[in-house]
Amino acid sequence: MHESTLGDLKLIILDDGSFPFPARYFFANVAQAIWQQELVTDPEGKIPVGHNYALLQSVGERVLIDTGYGDDTHGGRTGHLLEELAKAGYRREDVTMVVNTHAHGDHTSRNTCLLHGRSEPAFPNARYYLGRADWDRFQGAEGRVHHFKQQLRLLAERGMLTLTDGALQLTPEVSLLPTPGHTPGHISVFIESRGTMAIYLGDLCHHRLHFSHPDWVSCFDTDPQQTPKTRARVFQTALEHDALLVCPHAAAPGLGRLRPVQHGVVWSPIA
Ligand SMILES: [Zn+2]
Repeated sequence: MHESTLGDLKLIILDDGSFPFPARYFFANVAQAIWQQELVTDPEGKIPVGHNYALLQSVGERVLIDTGYGDDTHGGRTGHLLEELAKAGYRREDVTMVVNTHAHGDHTSRNTCLLHGRSEPAFPNARYYLGRADWDRFQGAEGRVHHFKQQLRLLAERGMLTLTDGALQLTPEVSLLPTPGHTPGHISVFIESRGTMAIYLGDLCHHRLHFSHPDWVSCFDTDPQQTPKTRARVFQTALEHDALLVCPHAAAPGLGRLRPVQHGVVWSPIA
């Protein structure tokens, strides 16, 4: 758990956990010999991958961004979101909005939890948000997003899920903007308070090398041609506002800023 203040708004990072993951998945369109010049892996070719999600306290709303691995704990290493929320002093019932940046399981699997043997919304007083294009893409593919029925369809059946098209202002300080590429309905969260800006990137970038090599994309991106274009647009906004960035899969707490260099930008982490 990591807490910072941004103008009038509180930004709390909730650490769902970390585990080693094959590095080659993140650089699917690059020769291994190239990315290995800039990255050391363990003997199995893996690197630690963080899962840093966020809670915003904004104008009376408590906005949770992404819900983590849920019961998919990778041997106890992930699925810690609710513990982190409690450490920050909040109950599940306090959350008033839940944004799923996209439908993948590492971002949606604590949308619900098992109560008395049944799946129930984990945040019973919240309205949930998901990009409509992700709903359309993944609803028929239960195998690929294996928690879809339990974590997303159930919310729609309860009338708790809003599907978004285009931009959406959640509070005077928090808005959702489409950032497609990783998935068709992918959303990033733009946060502004008293002249300061933060951007929760979602899976626009998974690794620091995606900032310095914006054309390197992961094997999970549904539109790898789009990803570099979306990155260019968001990087420009981030540079103009010197925005604090949340990169969920960077090392905890996943916070950093862009630093301009001769041919683009680099990720500059904040401990
Ligand atoms: Zn992810």
